[in-house]
Amino acid sequence: MMLDIKSLDRKELEDWIQKKGFEPYRARQIWHWILKKTVASFDQMTDLPKSLRKIMNEEVDLSPLELVKLLESKEDETRKYLFRLRDGNFIESVLIPELEKGYFTICISSQAGCMMGCKFCFTARQGFKRNLKTSEIIDQVVQVKRSMSEPSKLRNIVFMGMGEPLLNYDNLIKAIRIFIDPYGMNFSHRRVTVSTCGLVPYIRRLGEEDVRVNLAVSLNAADDEKRSLLMPINRRYPLKELMAACKRFPLANGRRITFEYVLIDGINDSIEDAKRLVELIRGIRAKINLIPLNPSPGIEFSPPPWNKILAFQKVLIESNLTAIIRKSRGRDIMAACGQLSGRYGKDKAKIKEIG
Ligand code: SAH
Repeated sequence: MMLDIKSLDRKELEDWIQKKGFEPYRARQIWHWILKKTVASFDQMTDLPKSLRKIMNEEVDLSPLELVKLLESKEDETRKYLFRLRDGNFIESVLIPELEKGYFTICISSQAGCMMGCKFCFTARQGFKRNLKTSEIIDQVVQVKRSMSEPSKLRNIVFMGMGEPLLNYDNLIKAIRIFIDPYGMNFSHRRVTVSTCGLVPYIRRLGEEDVRVNLAVSLNAADDEKRSLLMPINRRYPLKELMAACKRFPLANGRRITFEYVLIDGINDSIEDAKRLVELIRGIRAKINLIPLNPSPGIEFSPPPWNKILAFQKVLIESNLTAIIRKSRGRDIMAACGQLSGRYGKDKAKIKEIG
């Protein structure tokens, strides 16, 4: 068994280094090469003793993800990365330029597939494969960063790719700690967002962690009947419990909970729906991301016409809520919300080229 180095925290790496007979500070050097310089081989770690590099070449797995395809949108420079896992499953990450602001957001996956079964989501249709290891979460950010012309512009990490992050809780938390460790990837905890379909016990648990990240909750309907139809998880944790957990969630200073609301034509897009939404989130420090549904093969829903989207937003704004319509990014490369994966199942694994 090779050592899965990107799954180790700093302490675990130090222990390994010492076991191999080297000084513990070597761990920090290695982390610097792996997580800050994003190198792809041990031979690039020029300030390490040759003997240590040799051991690592023989015993350590540096990268659990194989980049098999990189697609760039012609519309807006959004990039989609397709990675193959060692067991043949595929996951995707998306790099999104925040055009007006000059920096980038990476949207990453937490699971291969998903078991939540939301009716409008393309990943849900693929079913659940497995949880990602910490290293498989970390390596998405490392490899995407490596591919950027200005890596320092990668500022935000959002767990809005494939999977339900809170169902991969331990690996998620470990990855977040590595993301925000100053010796690790050194992201601000204020720039990491975990998005969930609403797993109440885990929302509570996340709120009790000593790492304070942002919380996004996929609402998508403001009454239990509609929400249960769209998102089966609502039968287990109905809105009353979900909103109570959101109210109690400890936010970092000046931060707000993001509520995602996928707008679906004729389903959840009426003026009454908007008014119910206003009532539902009353008293919570929140902002709302309105996401017009991205149509995908085999999903029977469609996005509302533009005038209905604007009318819905108007109700929220007139109630003094922050409501932003999320422009769809990278639709031409199937990189938009809920569209990830599925195109390259194991059976179709013929994609070799990168680019
Ligand atoms: N499981 C987590 C994170 C992954 S889904 C969660 O539920 O939040 C990320 C976001 O994509 C969610 O807000 C979800 O509602 C949205 N989404 C899923 N399918 C979509 C689609 N077809 N069009 C637009 N947004 C979609």
